[in-house]
Amino acid sequence: MKQLIHGGRLLTAGRLAGEHANLLIDGDVILAVLPPDQRVTEDARRIDASNRLLIPGLINAHTHGTVNLAKALADRWSLELLLNAYPWTAGGRTLEYKHLSALIGAVEMVRKGCTACYDLVAEIPAPSVDGIEAVARAYDDVGMRAVVAPMMADVSFYRAIPGLLDAMLPPLRERAEAIRLQPYEASLATCRQLLTKWSWDRDRLRPALGPTIPHHCSDEFITGCGDLAKEHGIGVQMHVAESKVQAVVGMRRYGTTLVAHLHKLGLLAPNFTAAHAIWLDDDDIGRLADAGASVAHNPGSNFKLGSGLAATRKLRDRGVSIGIGTDGCASSDNLNMFEAMRMAAFSSRVQGPDPRHWLSAAEVFEAATIGGARALGLADRIGQLAPGYKADVVFLDLRSINYVPLNDPLLQVVFCEDGTGVDRVMVGGSMVVEGGAVVGVDMGRLVAEAASAAANLTEVNAGARALAQALEPVVLDYCVGLARRPYSVHRWCADPGH
Ligand SMILES: [Zn+2]
Repeated sequence: MKQLIHGGRLLTAGRLAGEHANLLIDGDVILAVLPPDQRVTEDARRIDASNRLLIPGLINAHTHGTVNLAKALADRWSLELLLNAYPWTAGGRTLEYKHLSALIGAVEMVRKGCTACYDLVAEIPAPSVDGIEAVARAYDDVGMRAVVAPMMADVSFYRAIPGLLDAMLPPLRERAEAIRLQPYEASLATCRQLLTKWSWDRDRLRPALGPTIPHHCSDEFITGCGDLAKEHGIGVQMHVAESKVQAVVGMRRYGTTLVAHLHKLGLLAPNFTAAHAIWLDDDDIGRLADAGASVAHNPGSNFKLGSGLAATRKLRDRGVSIGIGTDGCASSDNLNMFEAMRMAAFSSRVQGPDPRHWLSAAEVFEAATIGGARALGLADRIGQLAPGYKADVVFLDLRSINYVPLNDPLLQVVFCEDGTGVDRVMVGGSMVVEGGAVVGVDMGRLVAEAASAAANLTEVNAGARALAQALEPVVLDYCVGLARRPYSVHRWCADPGH
């Protein structure tokens, strides 16, 4: 079936002035971008986009679907306190809860103008085929695109940080020591099984692999993931140098930076995405650029956890493709890509006094669309409103207060829009949001199910919470001590704070 979206303004790569244009869609693909006065004689269903600004669906380059039930559980947590508490905040998920959690995230994302995401799925104690399928089904239920990757480790958080266990007193030390993760061979076997039986349309839902953090994974695990990804032509995403503690630990463990270590293991390639990528030196940035790898920049999470400021200008200038992510609800609470764009722009601006080095609205918009598409491995299909691309279209209501008055569509999308202007969202030619509501989702039921799940998880995870709280003081002191060690990063501006 053909559809004609007419009467709207178009904001996409190469058309950043937001001028009027019509979109002719055939099935799930954009057939043509037409001048507003060109008559279409073909038989096409007409969609009136008067007073609407049409943008490509935003692409969330980094999130965690199974922790959307954990939003706003914590206030002043660093990344290390978050990882300490993970068995509590992410544990106890039945298959039903994994689906429900991913559904909550998908509803929030599409409602706020995001049509595709890269999801590193946390499952405790280990990844499962059924768990990943439950998450994929949630995205399918909402009609969103997603790259779904089991997030995995074979070294516990307490063992991953040299000296942390020794800093604990018995009997807590015994309890932390007793936490052991599944051997990597078993996790790789699960991934192999998942990849073999993957039956979803890969333009809608595709698998990837997520060995979570370099020093939380043995070298054999990381290279195993790299090999498996090559064999199946899929992506790999890891959290890389997210916190200063991680960078310091990397040096101790490997005698090199984390990126240099991954480079040595042969992991850096165009199918690789480094999430966060804050504590990098110039050579690391060069390694990522030369490999054609992407960075998933998560400014909201980086601010909330106090992780630091990613050198986005330098990454971009050196040729690293940048996508923008929200991270998961356990770390940054909301999944609002408009807010993430705004923060990405701002986080580049507090790094130096010269506005010529700041990320522009156009650069940020490109990162949230084309950059994200590259990270997801879908650069030739999504991220633009142009012939041959999928019809993933967000309709922004220009009568929303965010556009009153309309001075500059691009700058208003990046600096004024907060998701409240989203009126309709189309994915692959089908509406998934109409009049601000997610099609086919009973919000009353979702609210009730989420409340019941949250209450149940409070009970189920009470023991894990008590242990995390008992361990918190020693994790806090030890990791703050590590973070106070000198570690040099090179930036385009002198930053004596590092
Ligand atoms: Zn993350």
